[in-house]
Amino acid sequence: MTAIRRVLLLGGSTEAADLARRIVGSSVPIDVTVSFAGRTRERASTPEGITVRVGGFGGITGLKDALHDGGVAAMIDATHPFAARMPFHAAAACRSVGVPLLRVLRPEWAPDLGDRWTRVPSIADAARAVQTSGARRVLLTIGRQDLAPFADCDAELVVRSIDAPDPTVLAGATVLLARAPFTVDGELAVLRSHQIGLIVSKNSGGAATHAKIEAARQLGVPLVMVDRPAAPPVDTVPSVDDAMAWIIERFGASG
Ligand code: NAP
Repeated sequence: MTAIRRVLLLGGSTEAADLARRIVGSSVPIDVTVSFAGRTRERASTPEGITVRVGGFGGITGLKDALHDGGVAAMIDATHPFAARMPFHAAAACRSVGVPLLRVLRPEWAPDLGDRWTRVPSIADAARAVQTSGARRVLLTIGRQDLAPFADCDAELVVRSIDAPDPTVLAGATVLLARAPFTVDGELAVLRSHQIGLIVSKNSGGAATHAKIEAARQLGVPLVMVDRPAAPPVDTVPSVDDAMAWIIERFGASG
């Protein structure tokens, strides 16, 4: 009989949820725990057969202990492309404990013909770009945690996020609560009904939130695009298919 091995999957992205579903539907003899930071009030659904844990590990030391104490055979980091700290913690902890690590990181978006992007290296720079743009109404699609730098902007702000932002951070902003995936028609409706003259986005990549770029192109609305944070030099694949191939190669399928 094949021994069941433990895999720790760092969640927080569409790919993490897809990968969990793919593993459960496969015959690979692994026991998967998905770990969430616990930032959203309602988590994306996790399939039956997957163990869920929520909350930080307590830095690199805590993560090393979790790998060691949990007898983890491999870790898959499928955190969001804008998770700035956790991928470095994963790299350091896995290196130290000798656990194989794979990062799933979807490709970035690139501007297409007709796109009007201003690329900026940080959220603070995005806020400065909004202020200098002269746009009257601005759609912020960067989540609810990074809004403070926009507090001094003169533009009317429309914030779209999964959970409601702290109302004291951007008092007076219009809030749209929604979770991806979004459609081009839906995005066109949002841009038109709120008379949006500028969009701020993180370069998250992926299909689920790409529709805003297509809609912006159609309406000639410019975007301020925030570049991704640095990533550690670890084994990285761009898709769930590739991650699944890595898992099968490492753990095989049960006989
Ligand atoms: P971060 O800066 O990389 O992480 C901050 C801290 O949160 C980490 O040091 C860790 O705490 C804890 N953490 C992060 N991911 C975790 C996970 N999967 N399981 C357990 N603990 C985790 O990330 P962040 O920007 O705060 O984002 C938090 C989570 O939301 C991430 O999992 C990310 O995938 C997801 N997310 C982020 C964005 C974004 O734009 N930043 C967007 C969508 C989803 P300890 O040091 O105590 O272990």
